[in-house]
Amino acid sequence: MKTDVLVIGGGIAGAATAYYLATEGVDVTLVEADDLNTQASGANAGSIHVQIQHPEFVSLGPDWARAYGPTLRLLIESQQMWLGLGAELGVDLDVSLGGGLLVATTPEQMRQIEAKAKIERSFGVPIEILDRDSLRILAPYLAETAIGAGFCPIEGKANPLKATPAFAAAAERRGASMLTRTRILGLEPTSGGYRVRTGERTIEARRIVNAAGAAAADIAAMLGIPIALQGVPLQVTVTEPVAPLIPHLVYSAAGKLSLKQAHNGSCLIGGGWHARRLADGRLVTNPAHLAGNMTNAANLVPTLGQARAVRSWTATVNGTEDWRPIIGEVPGHKGFFLSLFPWVGFSAGPITARLTADMILGRQPRLPLNGVSALF
Ligand SMILES: Cc1cc2nc3c(=O)[nH]c(=O)nc-3n(C[C@H](O)[C@H](O)[C@H](O)COP(=O)(O)OP(=O)(O)OC[C@H]3O[C@@H](n4cnc5c(N)ncnc54)[C@H](O)[C@@H]3O)c2cc1C
Repeated sequence: MKTDVLVIGGGIAGAATAYYLATEGVDVTLVEADDLNTQASGANAGSIHVQIQHPEFVSLGPDWARAYGPTLRLLIESQQMWLGLGAELGVDLDVSLGGGLLVATTPEQMRQIEAKAKIERSFGVPIEILDRDSLRILAPYLAETAIGAGFCPIEGKANPLKATPAFAAAAERRGASMLTRTRILGLEPTSGGYRVRTGERTIEARRIVNAAGAAAADIAAMLGIPIALQGVPLQVTVTEPVAPLIPHLVYSAAGKLSLKQAHNGSCLIGGGWHARRLADGRLVTNPAHLAGNMTNAANLVPTLGQARAVRSWTATVNGTEDWRPIIGEVPGHKGFFLSLFPWVGFSAGPITARLTADMILGRQPRLPLNGVSALF
């Protein structure tokens, strides 16, 4: 089998890259080891993030935040893309961008939020600082202990169960081929591109897009390319439905938390709590982290103290130490592209794919990647 571009990975990065390429008439085949959307892209918490995550601001510091700043432009652009994606793909993706609230309960947390907002604003992220009274008006569901917040009015949520399948279906309608349950086992360069070995077939591709998420380093290693990306097991929890209460994406400055309410009233509670990986590779929920996560949620939104958790699940996120994306053609490996956005790759999926497609099409990427992608 022959193809011009072979995309490895049927998560949001791969499916959206296949969509943008097929839309431009490129002969593209996507290969997915399992079924589409079965890993991080279908199991994440659905937050559309734009701001810098507070725990990392505190642990990595303001110098790191300033260095990361140019990456925020990608998240802003991606948020803009999310606004129009449902209409473009012909599927309601449950996009709701009512704003993200980073809530403080101590003056020290407020100072950190203000310092972070100053850096974020210098890169174009809209952040308003709310005092106790304005916060109470905007978010009466919060605990009395909340003394203020940083509010990013463009953040929100989308449905991870719908977004990647919608990209994949639209890519197929435009002529992309999808090979699911097909694992890439080997890759080698040829005079005209790459030879790709799966269990059942050999595929000749002129160009490759490595969009294998948490497994991207294993794929790159097949060509002897080291990339500093690790898989990190995370967990998320959903509660039984409660009355409509929370129109925002809520974060806590006191500890790891992301919280939002779905259309059906269930609350999704996450924020980067680690799951456990067993010796045989299976992921299981860490009960202590589940308790910590639920406590953080109930401390900020007291009503949730009464809501029962109905399910927790785990998945592996693609993580890099400095949080920078890795997007572009690998120097010295003509035609081999990486399409990887760590930690918040659901939010950034549309722009990650668009930039990858731009480069494959031989165009200037629509946003500069110097100082953003770890490759440049
Ligand atoms: C629990 C959790 C919560 C999260 N919450 C959020 C959130 O709220 N907001 C946000 O923006 N981000 C969130 N993230 C991060 C986000 O989900 C990921 O960054 C993003 O989905 C990565 O997309 P991807 O397409 O690169 O990778 P994936 O979705 O992991 O897709 C990669 C695909 O490659 C396939 N693959 C791997 N190896 C091979 C091979 N050898 N051959 C063929 N196929 C292969 C895999 O099967 C997989 O389907 C969360 C992540 C997790 C785990």
